[in-house]
Amino acid sequence: MLLQLVCYHLAMALSQQRQEELVRQAMELSAETARDGNVPFAALLVDKDGAVIVAAKNTVNSSHNAAAHAEINLLYEAAQKLKTSNLSGYAVVSNAASCPMCIVALIKAKVTEYYFGAPSEDNMVPNISMEEIVAKTPFPIELHGGILADECAAQIAATAPVNRR
Ligand SMILES: [Zn+2]
Repeated sequence: MLLQLVCYHLAMALSQQRQEELVRQAMELSAETARDGNVPFAALLVDKDGAVIVAAKNTVNSSHNAAAHAEINLLYEAAQKLKTSNLSGYAVVSNAASCPMCIVALIKAKVTEYYFGAPSEDNMVPNISMEEIVAKTPFPIELHGGILADECAAQIAATAPVNRR
């Protein structure tokens, strides 16, 4: 297990500076989609060098689709662009921890690493954290949380519509 974790670190290992740049990019997209009446969440698909391959926003309200969370939209766009359902070797970066639906989708896509800002909300529906879901997964997705967490949480609190998710 330790060797496996070391290998994953070697596979991606985005610098702290790059992690913060990417989370800030997700925050910018979040602000953009909030202006369209959506909840302020966004996600980026990033390759092993930290380059952004696909960026997506939550569009639940503007597209009238309860499943149109940023990570789900990201998987659809990644499928079109990369012509593969296997995102092993890629990382996803978001301004906040994923909901249960999205972390399961990212696990099924075999995303290698997940970087996020604000932690899981305590009123998640259903109320199961990413960490609990990842712990029950036979292959690991490595979680790196708390990147600019306070800034992310403040932005979410300030821009989220009253009627959440
Ligand atoms: Zn979600």
